[in-house]
Amino acid sequence: MLLKIVQVGDPVLRAGTRELTRDEIVGAKVQQLIEWMRETMRDAPGVGLAAPQIGLPLRLAVIEDGALVPELERRPIPFHVVINPTLTVGGEMVEHGEGCLSLEGFQAEVPRAQTVRVQALDHLARPVTIDASGWYARILQHEIDHLDGKLYIDRMDARTFTTARNARRAGKEN
Ligand code: ZN
Repeated sequence: MLLKIVQVGDPVLRAGTRELTRDEIVGAKVQQLIEWMRETMRDAPGVGLAAPQIGLPLRLAVIEDGALVPELERRPIPFHVVINPTLTVGGEMVEHGEGCLSLEGFQAEVPRAQTVRVQALDHLARPVTIDASGWYARILQHEIDHLDGKLYIDRMDARTFTTARNARRAGKEN
């Protein structure tokens, strides 16, 4: 089932989220939710989708990236779920164009840490540690920001904020 993706201005994007219990994670409701979020992300299409974006204040996000763009350190990332994540950032800050399914039609240059370590639970409530760099690190920071009620516009270089159409014209499409 395709879920409705809420747009900027909806309070749920700013409200913050609560953790899921292990019982909730392995239960039928959350398992179904993960499937629906996967379908919704693929349909959008996007490389990540956080629960607040479909109106739920829960610490859960799905991620999947099929693209290979070596100059952005972007490699295919298989579908997976991060639940109750904590984030530690490292390395230098790197600025790249970034968009969001909840800010449809816009993008901006956003500085992000080059490397991250994320500790989270997977879709079966098993603890996982993810060490990521490059574009995958950017996706993780973007999605975990959603869980903390933050959007990329809070971090962007404001003078680079643009419609996606104008970015395409300038050859800076994300
Ligand atoms: Zn987003």
